[in-house]
Amino acid sequence: MEDCIFCNIAHGKVHSWKVYEDEQTYAFLDINPVNEYHTLVIPKKHYEDIFDIPDEEAICIMKTIKVITNLYNSKLVIRNIQILNSSGREAQQDVFHIHFHIIPRYSGDKQNIKWVTHNEWCNRFDELLEKIKQ
Ligand code: 5GP
Ligand code: ZN
Repeated sequence: MEDCIFCNIAHGKVHSWKVYEDEQTYAFLDINPVNEYHTLVIPKKHYEDIFDIPDEEAICIMKTIKVITNLYNSKLVIRNIQILNSSGREAQQDVFHIHFHIIPRYSGDKQNIKWVTHNEWCNRFDELLEKIKQ
């Protein structure tokens, strides 16, 4: 994927601020950080999103997320972190090489994820679960 920015970053063709890498994964600082140490974790191979990444590669990503959160916890005493993946345009994915955000959170950082919730939908849960019965 020559024109994929994250492929180019993973293969050292575009500069990035590397946090960690192993055989399958690469982690680097997000160029538009929400907070200090806002980090992206990607597979070195190109997969678009959560639907086309193979299970084994997804497991590698999660292992790298653990390495980095352990690192931030031990070195920086960071104890609050959000881990986020957007898969699909309507899920607000902007770069179509799968990536997971690791976003440290601090008291008073003025960031705020605020979902619109629908408690009244609980009465439809049985119906919803029926649709995905295997
Ligand atoms: P998404 O909205 O797809 O979940 O997130 C894409 C993220 O990639 C954004 O937070 C954006 O700042 C980051 N990003 C896009 N291009 C680059 C780049 O060239 N370098 C780095 N380090 N981050 C990038
Ligand atoms: Zn790519």
